[in-house]
Amino acid sequence: MATIDPQPGIMDIALYEGGKAKVDGITNVVKLSSNENPFGPSPAVQDAVVRSVHELHRYPSTDHASLRSAIGEVHGVDPERVICGVGSDEIIHFLCQAYAGPGTEVLHTVHGFGMYRISALAAGASPVEVPERDRVTDVDAILDGCSERTRLVFIANPNNPTGTMIGLAEIERLAEGLPDQCLLVLDGAYADYVEGYDGGARLVEQRENVVMTRTFSKLYGLGGMRVGWGYAPKAVIDVLNRVRGPFNLSNTALAAAEAAVRDTTWAEKCRNDNTRLRMILSEALAEHGVPSDTSTANFVLARFADKEEADACDLYLQSQGLIVRKVGGYKLPNCLRITVGDEPSVRRVAFCIGQFK
Ligand code: PMP
Repeated sequence: MATIDPQPGIMDIALYEGGKAKVDGITNVVKLSSNENPFGPSPAVQDAVVRSVHELHRYPSTDHASLRSAIGEVHGVDPERVICGVGSDEIIHFLCQAYAGPGTEVLHTVHGFGMYRISALAAGASPVEVPERDRVTDVDAILDGCSERTRLVFIANPNNPTGTMIGLAEIERLAEGLPDQCLLVLDGAYADYVEGYDGGARLVEQRENVVMTRTFSKLYGLGGMRVGWGYAPKAVIDVLNRVRGPFNLSNTALAAAEAAVRDTTWAEKCRNDNTRLRMILSEALAEHGVPSDTSTANFVLARFADKEEADACDLYLQSQGLIVRKVGGYKLPNCLRITVGDEPSVRRVAFCIGQFK
């Protein structure tokens, strides 16, 4: 029997977003709650998707060779050590299915991404939460939290929902200090927003116990297409391929992701726009007396005096047609996570928070 999770599950998130999107009588509702790219995918994706329609009667590639080789070229990684999945969610799921199970533990930080817990429970393992230090991943707390039962340690770098990140030296110290039976998973869903950061790819090549996950849902603007990938030592890739279904990605998803990754000009433009607009947003919040940690991702975690103020601001923003994410479920009840939108949305949310204060 599967364990019943007392935490909010995915359906709660779906209801929350669906309900809020139906704000009566408000036009021009802007969704800033799921860290999506407001500019969408590269224009090249549309052509690729249309072309893929001619292939719909054919089963898709089982080995994703073409997409893996494009990822290899663009990200400077070895395609033989890449595995593609239905979002990086599926890679997280494969890791838990393959490496965790009853009697084992899956460790993540207190404000870590919700899927770590869900996938751990689905595999019959026990999720273990360790504290952060001021909303930043704390390597010592993780090492202290490991036991002989720990099989996987997940850290998102940059982290969601805090937006904070730790340096490669700290990550290396963590990888070095982990017990032998344990894999370190570096979740790089937001790594593409950090200029010059490889998400931990070089570390994967140097060590046997490090895995990296990446996604097309954020910088590449393909959240609705569901494509992610993992980079791991060959032995780990072979294990993950044993729990992967042969046709996990559709022809359309494969074509879209390949077009997206090859358009490096679009990706760079989106990265630069995000950096500029994130600065505008966090500076405006600070001017209105709302602090936030330095974010390296495509969202900002706005901190209010307490839960009451955060809830009131959330309701006010809703009344103005702005949907942001309450992160109470992540134990940050005084915070609202705001995705960096396009310039009009960023200015609108900053203006409304000013009105609220
Ligand atoms: N990791 C983190 C830290 C995330 O925030 C997300 C998406 N919100 C994911 C993984 C999963 O992304 P996807 O399944 O869309 O690739």
